[in-house]
Amino acid sequence: MATVRFDPEVCSGCETIDCLMKCQYINFRDVADARSEREKINSSGQSRVLEECLTCYACQEYCPYDNNPFYHLVDRQEALGILPAPTPIVKEQLKMMAPKGRITKQQVTSPVVDMCAFPMLTGCIRGTLFEGASVVVGTDIFCNIMWLHFARNSVIRERVPEVIDRIMYYYLSDSGISELICFHDECYGTYTSVADAYGIEVPFKPVHLFDYINGRLDILADRIKPLDVKIAYQRPCSNRLIPQTDSVLDEIFKKIGVERADRTYDRQNALCCGGVPRAQQRDDEADRLVEDNIADMVDSGAKYCVFNCPFCMATLAEAVLEKGLMPILVSDLVQMALGE
Ligand code: SF4
Ligand code: SF4
Repeated sequence: MATVRFDPEVCSGCETIDCLMKCQYINFRDVADARSEREKINSSGQSRVLEECLTCYACQEYCPYDNNPFYHLVDRQEALGILPAPTPIVKEQLKMMAPKGRITKQQVTSPVVDMCAFPMLTGCIRGTLFEGASVVVGTDIFCNIMWLHFARNSVIRERVPEVIDRIMYYYLSDSGISELICFHDECYGTYTSVADAYGIEVPFKPVHLFDYINGRLDILADRIKPLDVKIAYQRPCSNRLIPQTDSVLDEIFKKIGVERADRTYDRQNALCCGGVPRAQQRDDEADRLVEDNIADMVDSGAKYCVFNCPFCMATLAEAVLEKGLMPILVSDLVQMALGE
């Protein structure tokens, strides 16, 4: 199996071992302990990190040298057969999220919005924010990044190039379009960070939802009615792969008059929503994450809990509502500020 772009020599010269020292879910006595585990991972040996990892993606962001430690860790897990979730669950998910062959050719016009495997969210693409947009959606164009949570880099290598080919053949090529707006953070992470690390060619230009919205807000500036509200943001795991987009979200919030609560579990210290550990049958961990995260949101005085990832929203929406916070997607919040 081809490996991801990762250089153990870079680790040899690394003084801080941030990838492990900053991990919120695995404890290390000191830097020497973390270095020892790093060396075990890198030399193909067994490390407790492969067993204890919550697959939160955060070490991808923590590494100051962009050395792809998490993608490499998933390679090691798969090679050694260390599965974060029970095998029957992985098999079931693989079947459920496989391409179904239901895709047909569609003439599209710009902007083309990729809704990944979330047909239930296509109603979000409305109003002046998405004026004239074409929507593409379905498991045939599912970005497949979720296999990072299940030690299945091989599936990413197999399915992502096929998905890219389908996007080109069924939608973009014949319509003469070269840009794809990624509604789902994970799709943008796949077509930029993952593609780069795994050596997968992407013939279109992926555009993150935040960049698209930010640009539209400049055009629609005279329609904005500032919301004047404090929100708690649930930063998703996939955003660890593309941290440069987080500051774009800050620009969006500023333009629509939203204060992002300065809370413990945001930005580099964001907590997993709990959905993945739940799917991996690590229920105690999932319960603790949800409890700590929501308590922090409540303490911050936020009125809304804003989501970028539909999976995080499905996991936490009911629980945040019970605590008096209104769950909402970024795009819906922006549409509120546009009076729509
Ligand atoms: S992966 Fe990055 S942070 Fe971790 S030891 Fe290697 S260079 Fe340092
Ligand atoms: S993915 Fe998250 S839990 Fe796993 S080693 Fe990296 S930071 Fe720790």
